[in-house]
Amino acid sequence: MTKFAGNFDLIVIGAGSGGVRAGRIAAGHGATVAVVEGDRPGGTCVIRGCVPKKLLMYGSSFSADTEDARGFGWQIDALSHDWSALIAAKDAEIIRLEGIYRSLLKNAGATLIEGWGRLTGPNQVTVNSKVYRAGKILIAVGGTPQYINVPGMAEYAISSNEALDLVEFPREIAIYGSGYIALEFAGIFNGLGAQTHLIYRSDLPLRGFDDDVRAHMAAALTDRGIILHPETTIDQVTAENSGKQAHLSDGSSLAVDQIMAATGRRPNTANLGLDDLGVKLGKQGEIIVDDMSQTNLPSLYAIGDVTNRINLTPVAIAEGHAFADSEFGNFKRQVDHVNVASAVFSQPPIASVGLSEAAAKKAYGEITVFESQFRAMKNTISGRDEKTYMKLIVDKTTDSVVGVHMMGPDCGEIMQGIAIAVKMGATKADFDATIGIHPTAAEEFVTMRSARVDT
Ligand code: NDP
Repeated sequence: MTKFAGNFDLIVIGAGSGGVRAGRIAAGHGATVAVVEGDRPGGTCVIRGCVPKKLLMYGSSFSADTEDARGFGWQIDALSHDWSALIAAKDAEIIRLEGIYRSLLKNAGATLIEGWGRLTGPNQVTVNSKVYRAGKILIAVGGTPQYINVPGMAEYAISSNEALDLVEFPREIAIYGSGYIALEFAGIFNGLGAQTHLIYRSDLPLRGFDDDVRAHMAAALTDRGIILHPETTIDQVTAENSGKQAHLSDGSSLAVDQIMAATGRRPNTANLGLDDLGVKLGKQGEIIVDDMSQTNLPSLYAIGDVTNRINLTPVAIAEGHAFADSEFGNFKRQVDHVNVASAVFSQPPIASVGLSEAAAKKAYGEITVFESQFRAMKNTISGRDEKTYMKLIVDKTTDSVVGVHMMGPDCGEIMQGIAIAVKMGATKADFDATIGIHPTAAEEFVTMRSARVDT
Protein backbone atom coordinates (compact mmCIF):
# COMPACT_ATOMS: atom_id res chain seq x y z
CA MET A 1 0.00 0.00 0.00
CA THR A 2 1.43 3.36 -0.98
CA LYS A 3 0.56 6.49 0.93
CA PHE A 4 1.03 10.16 0.21
CA ALA A 5 3.91 11.59 2.23
CA GLY A 6 4.71 15.09 1.04
CA ASN A 7 4.67 17.85 -1.56
CA PHE A 8 7.75 19.77 -2.73
CA ASP A 9 8.68 22.27 -5.40
CA LEU A 10 11.58 20.02 -6.39
CA ILE A 11 12.49 16.40 -5.84
CA VAL A 12 16.03 15.44 -6.77
CA ILE A 13 16.74 11.73 -7.19
CA GLY A 14 20.40 11.13 -6.34
CA ALA A 15 22.52 12.83 -3.67
CA GLY A 16 25.78 12.87 -5.60
CA SER A 17 27.76 15.98 -6.43
CA GLY A 18 25.35 17.22 -9.11
CA GLY A 19 22.12 16.41 -7.26
CA VAL A 20 23.26 17.95 -3.99
CA ARG A 21 24.41 21.13 -5.74
CA ALA A 22 21.05 21.42 -7.55
CA GLY A 23 19.08 20.79 -4.34
CA ARG A 24 21.06 23.29 -2.28
CA ILE A 25 20.91 26.05 -4.86
CA ALA A 26 17.18 25.53 -5.50
CA ALA A 27 16.53 25.64 -1.74
CA GLY A 28 18.60 28.83 -1.56
CA HIS A 29 16.29 30.32 -4.17
CA GLY A 30 13.36 29.58 -1.85
CA ALA A 31 12.14 26.26 -3.25
CA THR A 32 11.00 23.42 -1.00
CA VAL A 33 13.35 20.57 -1.87
CA ALA A 34 13.64 16.86 -1.16
CA VAL A 35 16.67 14.81 -2.20
CA VAL A 36 16.20 11.05 -2.47
CA GLU A 37 19.19 8.74 -2.01
CA GLY A 38 19.27 4.94 -1.67
CA ASP A 39 22.98 4.73 -0.92
CA ARG A 40 25.35 7.08 0.90
CA PRO A 41 25.06 10.82 0.20
CA GLY A 42 28.11 11.92 -1.77
CA GLY A 43 27.55 9.70 -4.79
CA THR A 44 30.14 8.23 -7.11
CA CYS A 45 32.71 10.99 -6.76
CA VAL A 46 32.86 11.08 -2.98
CA ILE A 47 32.03 7.50 -2.03
CA ARG A 48 33.44 5.31 -4.80
CA GLY A 49 35.16 7.51 -7.37
CA CYS A 50 37.30 10.63 -7.55
CA VAL A 51 37.99 11.05 -3.84
CA PRO A 52 38.87 7.52 -2.66
CA LYS A 53 40.68 6.91 -5.96
CA LYS A 54 42.83 9.98 -5.50
CA LEU A 55 43.61 9.09 -1.89
CA LEU A 56 44.80 5.65 -3.02
CA MET A 57 46.72 7.29 -5.85
CA TYR A 58 48.52 9.52 -3.34
CA GLY A 59 49.15 6.51 -1.12
CA SER A 60 50.69 4.52 -3.95
CA SER A 61 52.82 7.37 -5.30
CA PHE A 62 55.13 7.34 -2.26
CA SER A 63 56.93 4.26 -3.56
CA ALA A 64 58.20 6.16 -6.62
CA ASP A 65 58.90 9.24 -4.48
CA THR A 66 60.95 7.11 -2.13
CA GLU A 67 62.97 5.65 -5.01
CA ASP A 68 63.59 9.19 -6.25
CA ALA A 69 64.59 10.35 -2.77
CA ARG A 70 67.59 8.01 -2.79
CA GLY A 71 69.19 10.10 -5.55
CA PHE A 72 68.94 13.09 -3.21
CA GLY A 73 70.91 11.32 -0.51
CA TRP A 74 68.16 9.69 1.55
CA GLN A 75 69.14 6.32 2.93
CA ILE A 76 65.98 4.25 2.84
CA ASP A 77 65.82 0.59 3.71
CA ALA A 78 63.37 -1.85 2.21
CA LEU A 79 59.84 -0.48 2.10
CA SER A 80 56.71 -2.22 3.26
CA HIS A 81 53.14 -1.10 2.95
CA ASP A 82 50.04 -1.82 5.01
CA TRP A 83 47.08 -1.96 2.61
CA SER A 84 44.48 -2.29 5.36
CA ALA A 85 45.84 0.83 7.09
CA LEU A 86 45.48 2.79 3.84
CA ILE A 87 41.94 1.50 3.28
CA ALA A 88 40.96 2.33 6.88
CA ALA A 89 42.36 5.88 6.58
CA LYS A 90 40.58 6.34 3.26
CA ASP A 91 37.30 5.03 4.72
CA ALA A 92 37.52 7.44 7.66
CA GLU A 93 37.95 10.35 5.26
CA ILE A 94 34.97 9.22 3.15
CA ILE A 95 32.81 9.01 6.29
CA ARG A 96 33.85 12.58 7.13
CA LEU A 97 32.93 13.80 3.64
CA GLU A 98 29.63 11.94 3.67
CA GLY A 99 28.82 13.81 6.88
CA ILE A 100 29.61 17.09 5.15
CA TYR A 101 27.25 16.20 2.29
CA ARG A 102 24.48 15.44 4.77
CA SER A 103 25.09 18.78 6.54
CA LEU A 104 25.13 20.69 3.27
CA LEU A 105 21.61 19.48 2.51
CA LYS A 106 20.39 20.03 6.06
CA ASN A 107 21.86 23.53 6.29
CA ALA A 108 20.27 24.43 2.95
CA GLY A 109 16.87 23.37 4.35
CA ALA A 110 16.47 20.41 1.99
CA THR A 111 14.91 17.15 3.18
CA LEU A 112 16.96 13.98 2.67
CA ILE A 113 14.73 10.98 1.95
CA GLU A 114 16.72 7.76 2.33
CA GLY A 115 15.64 4.96 0.00
CA TRP A 116 15.53 4.14 -3.71
CA GLY A 117 13.24 6.45 -5.64
CA ARG A 118 11.09 5.44 -8.59
CA LEU A 119 9.10 7.74 -10.83
CA THR A 120 5.45 6.80 -10.61
CA GLY A 121 4.09 9.81 -12.47
CA PRO A 122 5.39 12.94 -14.22
CA ASN A 123 5.25 14.74 -10.85
CA GLN A 124 5.51 11.82 -8.49
CA VAL A 125 8.28 9.77 -6.89
CA THR A 126 7.72 6.69 -4.75
CA VAL A 127 10.25 5.77 -2.07
CA ASN A 128 9.72 2.84 0.32
CA SER A 129 5.99 2.74 -0.60
CA LYS A 130 5.58 6.42 0.20
CA VAL A 131 4.49 8.83 -2.50
CA TYR A 132 6.02 12.30 -2.82
CA ARG A 133 4.90 14.93 -5.32
CA ALA A 134 6.76 17.85 -6.81
CA GLY A 135 6.36 20.54 -9.48
CA LYS A 136 9.70 19.48 -10.93
CA ILE A 137 11.78 16.34 -10.65
CA LEU A 138 15.52 16.19 -11.32
CA ILE A 139 17.25 12.89 -12.02
CA ALA A 140 20.89 12.89 -10.95
CA VAL A 141 21.51 9.20 -10.35
CA GLY A 142 24.85 8.90 -12.15
CA GLY A 143 26.26 5.74 -13.66
CA THR A 144 27.66 2.37 -12.75
CA PRO A 145 30.56 0.20 -13.98
CA GLN A 146 29.66 -1.99 -16.94
CA TYR A 147 30.91 -5.52 -17.46
CA ILE A 148 31.21 -6.53 -21.07
CA ASN A 149 29.57 -9.71 -22.19
CA VAL A 150 32.44 -12.19 -21.89
CA PRO A 151 32.06 -15.57 -20.13
CA GLY A 152 33.00 -15.30 -16.46
CA MET A 153 33.62 -11.52 -16.51
CA ALA A 154 30.60 -10.47 -14.45
CA GLU A 155 31.01 -13.43 -12.05
CA TYR A 156 34.72 -13.23 -11.32
CA ALA A 157 36.03 -9.78 -12.23
CA ILE A 158 35.81 -6.84 -9.87
CA SER A 159 35.01 -3.26 -10.87
CA SER A 160 36.41 -0.01 -9.51
CA ASN A 161 33.75 -0.21 -6.76
CA GLU A 162 35.30 -3.33 -5.25
CA ALA A 163 38.89 -2.34 -6.10
CA LEU A 164 38.60 0.54 -3.63
CA ASP A 165 37.68 -1.80 -0.79
CA LEU A 166 39.63 -5.02 -1.33
CA VAL A 167 40.27 -6.83 1.93
CA GLU A 168 43.48 -8.35 0.60
CA PHE A 169 45.97 -6.56 -1.58
CA PRO A 170 46.46 -8.50 -4.85
CA ARG A 171 50.03 -9.50 -5.58
CA GLU A 172 49.16 -9.73 -9.27
CA ILE A 173 46.27 -8.05 -11.06
CA ALA A 174 45.00 -7.86 -14.65
CA ILE A 175 43.08 -4.71 -15.56
CA TYR A 176 40.88 -4.75 -18.64
CA GLY A 177 40.46 -1.50 -20.58
CA SER A 178 42.68 1.53 -21.07
CA GLY A 179 40.48 4.50 -20.24
CA TYR A 180 40.56 6.82 -17.24
CA ILE A 181 39.71 4.19 -14.64
CA ALA A 182 41.98 1.46 -16.01
CA LEU A 183 45.00 3.75 -16.05
CA GLU A 184 44.36 5.26 -12.65
CA PHE A 185 43.99 1.87 -10.97
CA ALA A 186 46.96 0.43 -12.86
CA GLY A 187 49.03 3.22 -11.31
CA ILE A 188 47.62 2.54 -7.84
CA PHE A 189 48.22 -1.22 -7.85
CA ASN A 190 51.60 -0.95 -9.55
CA GLY A 191 52.73 1.77 -7.14
CA LEU A 192 51.78 -0.37 -4.17
CA GLY A 193 53.80 -3.28 -5.50
CA ALA A 194 51.37 -5.50 -7.43
CA GLN A 195 52.50 -7.05 -10.69
CA THR A 196 50.08 -5.17 -12.93
CA HIS A 197 48.88 -6.13 -16.40
CA LEU A 198 46.90 -3.73 -18.59
CA ILE A 199 44.95 -5.48 -21.32
CA TYR A 200 43.26 -3.44 -24.05
CA ARG A 201 41.94 -3.86 -27.55
CA SER A 202 43.44 -0.76 -29.20
CA ASP A 203 47.08 -0.22 -30.16
CA LEU A 204 47.55 2.54 -27.57
CA PRO A 205 45.82 3.34 -24.28
CA LEU A 206 43.38 6.24 -23.81
CA ARG A 207 41.46 6.27 -27.07
CA GLY A 208 40.16 9.78 -27.80
CA PHE A 209 43.19 11.50 -26.27
CA ASP A 210 45.94 13.04 -28.38
CA ASP A 211 47.91 10.30 -30.16
CA ASP A 212 51.32 11.62 -29.10
CA VAL A 213 50.20 11.73 -25.47
CA ARG A 214 48.92 8.17 -25.83
CA ALA A 215 52.27 6.97 -27.20
CA HIS A 216 54.21 8.74 -24.45
CA MET A 217 51.86 7.30 -21.86
CA ALA A 218 52.38 3.73 -23.14
CA ALA A 219 56.15 4.17 -22.87
CA ALA A 220 55.89 5.69 -19.37
CA LEU A 221 53.64 2.90 -18.09
CA THR A 222 56.08 0.29 -19.37
CA ASP A 223 59.00 2.14 -17.75
CA ARG A 224 57.09 2.13 -14.46
CA GLY A 225 56.81 -1.66 -14.67
CA ILE A 226 53.22 -2.11 -15.87
CA ILE A 227 52.95 -4.94 -18.37
CA LEU A 228 51.00 -3.79 -21.42
CA HIS A 229 48.95 -6.14 -23.59
CA PRO A 230 47.81 -3.94 -26.51
CA GLU A 231 45.51 -5.21 -29.27
CA THR A 232 44.40 -7.97 -26.94
CA THR A 233 41.01 -8.91 -25.55
CA ILE A 234 39.99 -11.07 -22.62
CA ASP A 235 37.82 -13.80 -24.10
CA GLN A 236 37.01 -15.66 -20.89
CA VAL A 237 37.52 -15.35 -17.16
CA THR A 238 37.73 -18.40 -14.93
CA ALA A 239 38.47 -18.91 -11.26
CA GLU A 240 40.25 -21.78 -9.54
CA ASN A 241 42.58 -22.36 -6.59
CA SER A 242 41.58 -19.04 -5.02
CA GLY A 243 43.01 -17.23 -8.06
CA LYS A 244 41.57 -16.02 -11.33
CA GLN A 245 42.54 -16.63 -14.93
CA ALA A 246 42.19 -14.20 -17.82
CA HIS A 247 42.13 -16.08 -21.12
CA LEU A 248 43.49 -13.75 -23.77
CA SER A 249 42.84 -13.48 -27.50
CA ASP A 250 46.49 -14.36 -28.26
CA GLY A 251 45.86 -17.81 -26.83
CA SER A 252 47.76 -17.22 -23.59
CA SER A 253 46.26 -16.91 -20.15
CA LEU A 254 47.23 -14.94 -17.08
CA ALA A 255 46.85 -16.38 -13.59
CA VAL A 256 46.33 -13.50 -11.20
CA ASP A 257 44.78 -12.68 -7.81
CA GLN A 258 42.26 -10.22 -9.24
CA ILE A 259 40.87 -9.22 -12.61
CA MET A 260 39.44 -5.74 -12.76
CA ALA A 261 37.00 -4.72 -15.48
CA ALA A 262 37.45 -1.05 -16.38
CA THR A 263 35.50 -1.19 -19.60
CA GLY A 264 33.34 1.88 -19.22
CA ARG A 265 30.29 2.91 -17.24
CA ARG A 266 26.61 3.06 -18.09
CA PRO A 267 23.85 5.39 -16.91
CA ASN A 268 21.80 4.17 -13.94
CA THR A 269 18.44 4.31 -15.68
CA ALA A 270 17.27 0.71 -15.33
CA ASN A 271 14.95 0.89 -12.31
CA LEU A 272 13.61 4.41 -12.34
CA GLY A 273 10.29 3.79 -14.09
CA LEU A 274 11.33 5.90 -17.07
CA ASP A 275 9.94 3.55 -19.74
CA ASP A 276 6.46 3.62 -18.18
CA LEU A 277 6.45 7.40 -18.50
CA GLY A 278 7.80 7.40 -22.06
CA VAL A 279 11.00 9.26 -21.18
CA LYS A 280 13.36 9.28 -24.15
CA LEU A 281 16.59 7.34 -23.64
CA GLY A 282 19.66 7.05 -25.88
CA LYS A 283 21.56 3.95 -27.02
CA GLN A 284 23.51 3.57 -23.76
CA GLY A 285 20.37 4.05 -21.67
CA GLU A 286 21.21 7.71 -21.06
CA ILE A 287 18.42 10.23 -20.53
CA ILE A 288 18.12 12.55 -23.50
CA VAL A 289 17.96 16.18 -22.43
CA ASP A 290 18.09 19.57 -24.16
CA ASP A 291 20.50 22.43 -23.41
CA MET A 292 18.50 23.27 -20.29
CA SER A 293 18.74 19.64 -19.02
CA GLN A 294 15.02 19.13 -19.68
CA THR A 295 13.73 15.74 -20.87
CA ASN A 296 10.80 15.17 -23.22
CA LEU A 297 8.53 15.29 -20.12
CA PRO A 298 8.17 18.98 -19.22
CA SER A 299 8.33 18.37 -15.45
CA LEU A 300 11.38 16.08 -15.65
CA TYR A 301 15.04 17.13 -15.85
CA ALA A 302 18.32 15.22 -15.70
CA ILE A 303 21.95 16.15 -15.10
CA GLY A 304 25.33 14.49 -14.73
CA ASP A 305 26.49 11.03 -15.81
CA VAL A 306 22.93 9.76 -16.25
CA THR A 307 22.74 12.03 -19.32
CA ASN A 308 26.14 10.80 -20.62
CA ARG A 309 27.21 14.23 -21.90
CA ILE A 310 30.65 14.79 -20.34
CA ASN A 311 30.97 12.40 -17.41
CA LEU A 312 32.97 14.52 -15.01
CA THR A 313 31.98 15.67 -11.52
CA PRO A 314 32.54 19.40 -12.12
CA VAL A 315 30.34 19.17 -15.23
CA ALA A 316 27.52 17.55 -13.23
CA ILE A 317 27.88 20.25 -10.57
CA ALA A 318 27.75 22.99 -13.21
CA GLU A 319 24.67 21.38 -14.81
CA GLY A 320 22.93 21.06 -11.43
CA HIS A 321 23.68 24.66 -10.53
CA ALA A 322 22.50 25.98 -13.90
CA PHE A 323 19.30 23.93 -13.62
CA ALA A 324 18.52 25.33 -10.15
CA ASP A 325 19.27 28.92 -11.20
CA SER A 326 17.20 28.54 -14.37
CA GLU A 327 14.16 26.87 -12.84
CA PHE A 328 14.07 28.42 -9.37
CA GLY A 329 16.28 31.49 -9.45
CA ASN A 330 14.75 33.37 -12.36
CA PHE A 331 18.16 33.28 -14.05
CA LYS A 332 18.03 31.14 -17.20
CA ARG A 333 21.40 29.80 -18.20
CA GLN A 334 22.93 26.75 -19.78
CA VAL A 335 26.29 25.05 -19.32
CA ASP A 336 28.89 25.46 -22.02
CA HIS A 337 30.36 22.01 -22.65
CA VAL A 338 33.18 23.30 -24.87
CA ASN A 339 36.81 23.24 -23.72
CA VAL A 340 36.27 21.33 -20.49
CA ALA A 341 39.69 20.39 -19.13
CA SER A 342 40.32 17.02 -17.52
CA ALA A 343 43.12 14.99 -16.01
CA VAL A 344 43.79 11.29 -15.75
CA PHE A 345 45.45 10.58 -12.41
CA SER A 346 47.63 7.85 -13.78
CA GLN A 347 51.29 7.74 -12.75
CA PRO A 348 52.56 9.84 -14.47
CA PRO A 349 49.34 11.83 -14.89
CA ILE A 350 48.09 13.47 -18.05
CA ALA A 351 45.87 16.50 -18.50
CA SER A 352 44.40 18.29 -21.45
CA VAL A 353 42.02 20.96 -22.61
CA GLY A 354 40.62 21.41 -26.09
CA LEU A 355 41.21 19.24 -29.11
CA SER A 356 43.65 16.46 -29.91
CA GLU A 357 45.85 17.04 -32.95
CA ALA A 358 43.70 14.74 -35.09
CA ALA A 359 40.46 16.45 -34.01
CA ALA A 360 41.98 19.93 -34.50
CA LYS A 361 43.10 19.04 -38.02
CA LYS A 362 39.57 17.93 -38.81
CA ALA A 363 37.99 21.03 -37.30
CA TYR A 364 40.41 23.70 -38.50
CA GLY A 365 42.30 22.25 -41.48
CA GLU A 366 45.60 24.05 -41.07
CA ILE A 367 47.15 23.85 -37.63
CA THR A 368 50.56 24.43 -36.10
CA VAL A 369 51.91 22.11 -33.44
CA PHE A 370 54.40 23.07 -30.75
CA GLU A 371 55.81 20.38 -28.53
CA SER A 372 58.39 19.89 -25.88
CA GLN A 373 59.82 16.81 -24.25
CA PHE A 374 62.27 17.04 -21.40
CA ARG A 375 63.43 15.43 -18.20
CA ALA A 376 61.96 17.36 -15.29
CA MET A 377 64.61 18.90 -13.02
CA LYS A 378 63.65 16.59 -10.16
CA ASN A 379 64.35 13.60 -12.39
CA THR A 380 67.94 14.63 -13.14
CA ILE A 381 69.51 13.61 -9.87
CA SER A 382 66.74 11.25 -8.84
CA GLY A 383 67.91 9.09 -11.72
CA ARG A 384 64.38 8.61 -13.05
CA ASP A 385 64.47 8.60 -16.82
CA GLU A 386 60.81 9.57 -17.28
CA LYS A 387 60.20 12.52 -19.60
CA THR A 388 57.56 15.21 -19.35
CA TYR A 389 55.71 15.82 -22.63
CA MET A 390 53.84 19.02 -23.56
CA LYS A 391 51.98 20.00 -26.69
CA LEU A 392 50.19 23.11 -27.94
CA ILE A 393 47.95 23.00 -30.99
CA VAL A 394 47.24 26.30 -32.74
CA ASP A 395 44.70 27.18 -35.45
CA LYS A 396 46.91 28.66 -38.20
CA THR A 397 44.26 31.08 -39.44
CA THR A 398 43.37 32.77 -36.14
CA ASP A 399 46.46 31.93 -34.01
CA SER A 400 44.03 30.61 -31.33
CA VAL A 401 45.30 27.84 -29.07
CA VAL A 402 42.78 25.05 -29.62
CA GLY A 403 44.43 22.16 -27.78
CA VAL A 404 46.85 21.83 -24.86
CA HIS A 405 48.17 18.51 -23.59
CA MET A 406 50.64 17.45 -20.97
CA MET A 407 51.99 14.29 -19.42
CA GLY A 408 54.07 14.84 -16.34
CA PRO A 409 54.02 15.76 -12.65
CA ASP A 410 51.35 18.25 -11.54
CA CYS A 411 49.81 18.51 -15.00
CA GLY A 412 46.29 18.54 -13.52
CA GLU A 413 47.19 21.57 -11.42
CA ILE A 414 48.87 23.29 -14.36
CA MET A 415 46.09 22.60 -16.86
CA GLN A 416 43.41 24.27 -14.74
CA GLY A 417 45.08 27.66 -15.27
CA ILE A 418 45.75 26.97 -18.94
CA ALA A 419 42.06 26.07 -19.36
CA ILE A 420 41.07 29.61 -18.35
CA ALA A 421 43.29 31.02 -21.08
CA VAL A 422 41.93 28.61 -23.69
CA LYS A 423 38.34 29.30 -22.60
CA MET A 424 39.02 33.03 -23.04
CA GLY A 425 40.24 32.38 -26.59
CA ALA A 426 43.96 32.96 -25.96
CA THR A 427 46.20 33.05 -29.01
CA LYS A 428 49.70 31.65 -29.32
CA ALA A 429 50.89 35.29 -29.23
CA ASP A 430 49.22 35.64 -25.81
CA PHE A 431 51.06 32.55 -24.58
CA ASP A 432 54.32 33.99 -25.99
CA ALA A 433 53.72 37.34 -24.26
CA THR A 434 53.37 35.61 -20.90
CA ILE A 435 56.55 35.44 -18.85
CA GLY A 436 57.32 32.08 -17.30
CA ILE A 437 57.86 31.13 -13.68
CA HIS A 438 61.36 29.72 -13.37
CA PRO A 439 62.31 26.99 -12.77
CA THR A 440 59.09 25.11 -13.43
CA ALA A 441 57.86 22.66 -16.03
CA ALA A 442 54.83 24.85 -16.68
CA GLU A 443 56.97 27.68 -18.09
CA GLU A 444 57.56 25.52 -21.17
CA PHE A 445 54.00 26.33 -22.22
CA VAL A 446 54.98 29.98 -22.67
CA THR A 447 58.41 29.43 -24.17
CA MET A 448 57.69 27.11 -27.09
CA ARG A 449 59.01 29.12 -30.05
CA SER A 450 59.56 26.66 -32.90
CA ALA A 451 56.65 24.86 -34.49
CA ARG A 452 57.07 21.18 -35.23
CA VAL A 453 58.15 20.63 -38.81
CA ASP A 454 56.22 17.73 -40.27
CA THR A 455 58.09 15.76 -42.90
P1 NDP B 1 36.45 5.02 -20.56
O1 NDP B 1 35.41 5.26 -21.57
O2 NDP B 1 37.44 6.09 -20.27
O3 NDP B 1 37.28 3.71 -20.96
C1 NDP B 1 36.62 2.50 -21.23
C2 NDP B 1 37.65 1.47 -21.65
O4 NDP B 1 36.97 0.24 -21.84
C3 NDP B 1 38.33 1.80 -22.97
O5 NDP B 1 39.67 1.41 -22.91
C4 NDP B 1 37.55 0.94 -23.97
O6 NDP B 1 38.29 0.54 -25.08
C5 NDP B 1 37.25 -0.29 -23.12
N1 NDP B 1 36.09 -1.02 -23.65
C6 NDP B 1 34.82 -0.58 -23.74
N2 NDP B 1 34.04 -1.54 -24.27
C7 NDP B 1 34.86 -2.60 -24.51
C8 NDP B 1 34.64 -3.88 -25.07
N3 NDP B 1 33.43 -4.27 -25.48
N4 NDP B 1 35.70 -4.72 -25.18
C9 NDP B 1 36.93 -4.32 -24.76
N5 NDP B 1 37.19 -3.11 -24.22
C10 NDP B 1 36.16 -2.27 -24.10
O7 NDP B 1 35.67 4.56 -19.27
P2 NDP B 1 36.08 4.45 -17.74
O8 NDP B 1 35.21 3.40 -17.20
O9 NDP B 1 37.56 4.35 -17.58
O10 NDP B 1 35.62 5.84 -17.17
C11 NDP B 1 34.28 6.29 -17.39
C12 NDP B 1 34.22 7.78 -17.41
O11 NDP B 1 34.32 8.28 -16.10
C13 NDP B 1 35.37 8.43 -18.17
O12 NDP B 1 35.15 8.48 -19.54
C14 NDP B 1 35.41 9.80 -17.52
O13 NDP B 1 34.45 10.59 -18.16
C15 NDP B 1 34.99 9.51 -16.10
N6 NDP B 1 36.16 9.43 -15.21
C16 NDP B 1 36.93 10.54 -15.03
C17 NDP B 1 38.03 10.51 -14.23
C18 NDP B 1 38.86 11.73 -14.07
O14 NDP B 1 38.37 12.82 -14.39
N7 NDP B 1 40.10 11.63 -13.62
C19 NDP B 1 38.43 9.29 -13.50
C20 NDP B 1 37.57 8.18 -13.77
C21 NDP B 1 36.49 8.25 -14.59
P3 NDP B 1 38.35 1.43 -26.43
O15 NDP B 1 39.11 2.65 -26.07
O16 NDP B 1 39.04 0.55 -27.40
O17 NDP B 1 36.93 1.72 -26.79
